[in-house]
Amino acid sequence: MNPAAAEIRSSILTVLASWAGLVVEERRLVPPARDLPALARFLCLHADWLTSHPAAGDIADEIYDITRLARSIAYPNNVRRIHIGYCPGADCAGDLVAVIRPRGDLLPSEIICTVSSDHAWPTTWWTKLARQIQGQGESS
Ligand SMILES: [Zn+2]
Repeated sequence: MNPAAAEIRSSILTVLASWAGLVVEERRLVPPARDLPALARFLCLHADWLTSHPAAGDIADEIYDITRLARSIAYPNNVRRIHIGYCPGADCAGDLVAVIRPRGDLLPSEIICTVSSDHAWPTTWWTKLARQIQGQGESS
């Protein structure tokens, strides 16, 4: 894991643990385990209660800020990579990944294959690609 990712992960843990601590203290509950999934589940479980708490605005701001920071570390330059499925290329064992670039980026968004650089689809071909992938599922 890169240092920035490790640091933001640690910050997220601190923020969620802090707000979970408030819930535990004020509602006199058993604290959840100090790990991200447990803390996130715990806070979701008490989301209704938290929204009516006087600190609700602070909670929302803090979680929004840390989410934005985490997203900028996970997706530098705002380029997102989304796994789509298997490549429909003949005899290709690759996976398809949508590379979504922000508006105004010098490079266009596209769907690329993890194996062959010949298997790439610009956004204008995505509908055709979707039909190709659906057709592939029906024939096999
Ligand atoms: Zn391919």
